Amino acid sequence: MTRPAFEEYLESEDNPVAIIPLGSIEQHGPHLPLGTDSLAARAMAEEVARRTNSFVVQACMPGYSPHHMGFRGTITFKPETLAAIIEDTVESLAHHGVKKVLIVNAHGGNREIAATAARLSARASGSVVLMPSDTALRDPAELLRKVDAHAGASETGLARLLFDELVEMDRVRGFEPTASFHDSVEALRDPDAPNATLRAQLVMAYTGDTHEFTSSGVWGFSDPNDADIEDAREGWEYRLSLLVELVEMWKTIPLP
Ligand SMILES: [Zn+2]
Repeated sequence: MTRPAFEEYLESEDNPVAIIPLGSIEQHGPHLPLGTDSLAARAMAEEVARRTNSFVVQACMPGYSPHHMGFRGTITFKPETLAAIIEDTVESLAHHGVKKVLIVNAHGGNREIAATAARLSARASGSVVLMPSDTALRDPAELLRKVDAHAGASETGLARLLFDELVEMDRVRGFEPTASFHDSVEALRDPDAPNATLRAQLVMAYTGDTHEFTSSGVWGFSDPNDADIEDAREGWEYRLSLLVELVEMWKTIPLP
């Protein structure tokens, strides 16, 4: 947007909501672009904005990804860098009168940092900053069953849905999973045992840097070739409709 267009937007919209997409620049296996998470977050943010008369501020492309630095191409911010970018962006928006900010985060590594930055910047600027949880929507037993956390079938499906021209499936022809977990947590992965939520957290806590347990960079046991674009579309539409509903509801509620 040009400055006058932005000014006109602010004059015509009583409840402006800014949407900040967050993702990462990190290795995504042999076949997905380094920017996968940021491209996916931006695509979601843009579609939510389009449907709700909101606007997108992509403040940065990298996120917090030290665990992927064993592979070339990963760019990681320090936690304080990422937090400062979020805080400065929220406070700048507040300066211009935009005090409702939605963070759309597509990279798990950002979660705690972004949540803290959201809280601190909201307090500093008198804004309301929402970052809907991305894990609340997933079934932990399902997580343990598939272990399809990164660059596997589900993320490949999403990438092919959103930016197929950047995906190089030739690079995973005849793919064999390379991930292996330490024996001490392997038994915890039984998806049918009770307390899957707690066990999923233990399994996550015992995984080190990506290159230490998967030479392909694909984090899990699914085959990227099994990516189902229609499945991805269904999940995408579901998350999109939730966020659209959230923003529409939010626009009817005045600032505290
Ligand atoms: Zn990703």
